[in-house]
Amino acid sequence: MVSRSVNGRSAASLRCQVGGLFSRCSEQAAHVCQYCARHFCDGHAYFLAEHEAVCARRECREKWDDLQRHLGYRAFVAERNRAGVCGVDGCEGRWGYVCSLCQGQFCPEHLEERLYPVFDGYRRREEPKSVCQHCWERRKIWARR
Ligand SMILES: [Zn+2]
Ligand SMILES: [Zn+2]
Ligand SMILES: [Zn+2]
Ligand SMILES: [Zn+2]
Repeated sequence: MVSRSVNGRSAASLRCQVGGLFSRCSEQAAHVCQYCARHFCDGHAYFLAEHEAVCARRECREKWDDLQRHLGYRAFVAERNRAGVCGVDGCEGRWGYVCSLCQGQFCPEHLEERLYPVFDGYRRREEPKSVCQHCWERRKIWARR
């Protein structure tokens, strides 16, 4: 595995930053996590691809898993919307309202205006957004660092 250059510094000179509080990993870092920006070794990799690298921390694993689930969800909603119905499984309602996060379409009962946390830099704000139940649940995973 070729180590990547991060911010001009070579990742090869760094130690892995993933591991337990009392069991610091002593391996050389070979990757940088796309979610938490920690450097990590091959042994602490959860997912690696050409342009992606996810470390084995629980918070990062959950983000990756959530993203895969989300892709499946979006395909499911798009399929239902093509048939002219709300994106919620089993709902007979007509769609007409767009979720501002997944862009799926839902009936008025399955889309709610909520105060959704948004992060700009270091500050956390809340913005009113129309979101489906699925997107509303996801915020817990993505609010963690
Ligand atoms: Zn990570
Ligand atoms: Zn490691
Ligand atoms: Zn949504
Ligand atoms: Zn519905």
